[in-house]
Amino acid sequence: MSERLPLIAGNWKMHKTMAEARALAREIRLGTAGRARPEVVLAPPYTALAAVAQELAGSPIGLAAQDTFWEPQGAYTGAISPLMLQDAGCRYVIVGHSERRQHFGDTNRTVNLKLKAALAAGLRLIFCLGETREEREAGQTMARVAEQLQEGLAGVAATGENLVVAYEPVWAIGTGLTATPDQAQEVHHYLRGALLRLLGSGGDIRILYGGSVTPENAASLLAQPDIDGALVGGASLNPELFLPIIAAAR
Ligand code: PEP
Repeated sequence: MSERLPLIAGNWKMHKTMAEARALAREIRLGTAGRARPEVVLAPPYTALAAVAQELAGSPIGLAAQDTFWEPQGAYTGAISPLMLQDAGCRYVIVGHSERRQHFGDTNRTVNLKLKAALAAGLRLIFCLGETREEREAGQTMARVAEQLQEGLAGVAATGENLVVAYEPVWAIGTGLTATPDQAQEVHHYLRGALLRLLGSGGDIRILYGGSVTPENAASLLAQPDIDGALVGGASLNPELFLPIIAAAR
């Protein structure tokens, strides 16, 4: 593990009522109490942000939203702004998740607008990117992630303080298929170099792996030199799975 503080983030997607979210956050808070390492971040649905913020008050666990719109306010029915997320207690926001790209029309251009707006509102970014199965089989993995990184970060003043990148191969999300530690490390190493070329720095930017992370595969993934943590979907909904993943990052 590098000297970058490992980060384990749980993306709860469209799961949990307010009461359920509060109970899950409490179990994770109690299960990690007294440990400064790794950094832990929870991303409940919008409706549970305030309840989870209350549950996490005084704990080092960070709150994240799963998406944002880019305008600060206005006639945008159904949308939530970065300012509102700040107000709800968020420290982070996930942007560019493949499910947003697949089901809600996010493109590199709108991801870029969201990243800029979130940063301007003082939120830290968890910027997701990754290739599809077809792109991997066609040998286009590096080209695809490079394009997402470059277009997503255009004009974004990113540093290790405000940016976390999450490499999430689309074929591994929610499928039970995981990139091998070597496959993931290869892309993380490539992304580290691409960040250096793009930003002139990047050695301190954390790059998370996401895609069917479990207690069984977490340690071998996290042992890779350029894997600084994990973005966890399904397993983050169950403390019996999520707490051992957190422990593997210590
Ligand atoms: C995710 O949603 O970011 C994710 C990685 O999901 P899962 O862990 O379920 O594959």
